[in-house]
Amino acid sequence: MYYIGVDVGGTNLVAGLVDREGTILNKVSRPVDRSHSAEQLCDEVAQLAQQACEQGGKRPEEIQAVGVGIPGLVDNKTGVVVQTANMPFRDTPFRARFQSKWNVPVYLGNDANCAAIGEYWAGAAKGCSPAVVITLGTGIGGGMVVDGKLFTGCANSGMEVGHMVIYPGGQLCGCGNRGCWEQYGSATALIRMTREEMERCPDSLLWQICQGDLAQVQGRTPFQGAAQGDEAARRVLERYWEGLSLGLINLVNVLQPQVICLGGGISNADDAWLLEPVRERVKNGTYDKNTPVRLVRAALGNDAGVVGAALLCHLL
Ligand SMILES: [Zn+2]
Repeated sequence: MYYIGVDVGGTNLVAGLVDREGTILNKVSRPVDRSHSAEQLCDEVAQLAQQACEQGGKRPEEIQAVGVGIPGLVDNKTGVVVQTANMPFRDTPFRARFQSKWNVPVYLGNDANCAAIGEYWAGAAKGCSPAVVITLGTGIGGGMVVDGKLFTGCANSGMEVGHMVIYPGGQLCGCGNRGCWEQYGSATALIRMTREEMERCPDSLLWQICQGDLAQVQGRTPFQGAAQGDEAARRVLERYWEGLSLGLINLVNVLQPQVICLGGGISNADDAWLLEPVRERVKNGTYDKNTPVRLVRAALGNDAGVVGAALLCHLL
């Protein structure tokens, strides 16, 4: 039997035909039309899933289940997408709508949870328990697999790790609280901190790297600056490592995962500028000094969401 996983993003829909090992056999995608309604998007997801199946040379009867990863709060029990930040879904009966186009078992998951399942099944967290996957992007996404099952909390918003408060009274977050982890550890936060440091340091090499334009600052900018010996870039990274590590230390002390995988574009930075300094800080801040957590880079990249969505049926 085979599976279809669909990764619903704000920019693209990606559907993959996946086998039981978590290998993607065929992948198709289409851009998201921002003017489309939730119902239209559901229909497009169903069409794309069918396309992934057909183009992969499989008959619909060979598909055991379809899983859909969505950037927001989903309720797999009811088949409803409760809310999303940047998409039109709100109390959308996603499963019913999908099944009116293709009557197949449909599972819904949060995108960060799907990434965690993907890494657990076929990536850097394979077979680990608890396996925690942290995605550093616009915000910070988190997911955890324990004893082969996805941890969702009692109402699907467990592991919203990005909103753990690490600096009381700190930076205002989109959730309404102050000092949330994602205000210090996400790619967005790194970009903000880079701009702040540049404004303090008009002589920094960072200005050359982004052609004198603050709008050109990207997540990779401070890493480029630090690699060229720029002190301001180094200070940005020190601040970033500190914030990122605080959240990881809290996770380790509460959950004691066997592995934590870091994903998202930022995780592609050289080990010397990210994983190594963060590992050192996390090791020093961990309560149980005898059992250091394995902190690694996620292995599947953007495919984790598709693979994890496809295999949702085995982990819920
Ligand atoms: Zn928050």
